[in-house]
Amino acid sequence: MRFVVTAGPTREAIDPVRFISNRSSGKMGYAIAEAAIAAGHSVTLISGPATVPPPDGAQFISIVTSDELHDAVHRAVPECDVLVMCAAVSDYKPVIVESQKMKKRKTPFALELIPTRDILASLPKENRSYLVAGFAAETHDLETNARKKLREKNCDMIVANDVSQTDSGMESDENAVTIFFRNGESQTILRAAKKIIARELVKIISKMSEKCLTKKS
Ligand code: C5P
Repeated sequence: MRFVVTAGPTREAIDPVRFISNRSSGKMGYAIAEAAIAAGHSVTLISGPATVPPPDGAQFISIVTSDELHDAVHRAVPECDVLVMCAAVSDYKPVIVESQKMKKRKTPFALELIPTRDILASLPKENRSYLVAGFAAETHDLETNARKKLREKNCDMIVANDVSQTDSGMESDENAVTIFFRNGESQTILRAAKKIIARELVKIISKMSEKCLTKKS
């Protein structure tokens, strides 16, 4: 199978030296890419600036901004069987990117932000030839928020994790996830190393993708 995995944070420039970003390390997405390669799949890894090196054997595409990620995903998906959208995309970007470094001010000021494009929501909704797994990092109401994202972002499954704990989720080597499916079912993978969680996720995703491909042929 051909996997496209997105990982890591995006950066949205404020000026030449400052940006808006988040704490994503890229570890979960890279572990999924690694597990998919180990399971014999071909992997395109599209990644923002991560803190870990990419796995051997992936076709690596480096991006910085959410717009670059949007374009790279749209270029890659027509050739894939599975899209795993693990990247922590910035939800907002500055309206104006200053061409020169902004001077320090003594008074408060407000930065005007606009929402970035939602990449998952921008994908075709019908007759897709690939399976879409989205992610949801939540600090509260995990199930309600994840199920809402599953519907609104038109995913085939959402992998949700609780990021309110400091010992799992963002930046950590460990995670615990619940996967929500469109038919209402869910499956929990208890706290474990991200590499172990990734192997389980690849198994679940491959099984579901095989079923979809069989249905289509
Ligand atoms: O809405 P939220 O950012 O929590 O949704 C998370 C999921 O949506 C992730 O799979 C992420 O990669 C994706 N996403 C996206 N485009 C955005 C923001 C998030 O595709 N602009």
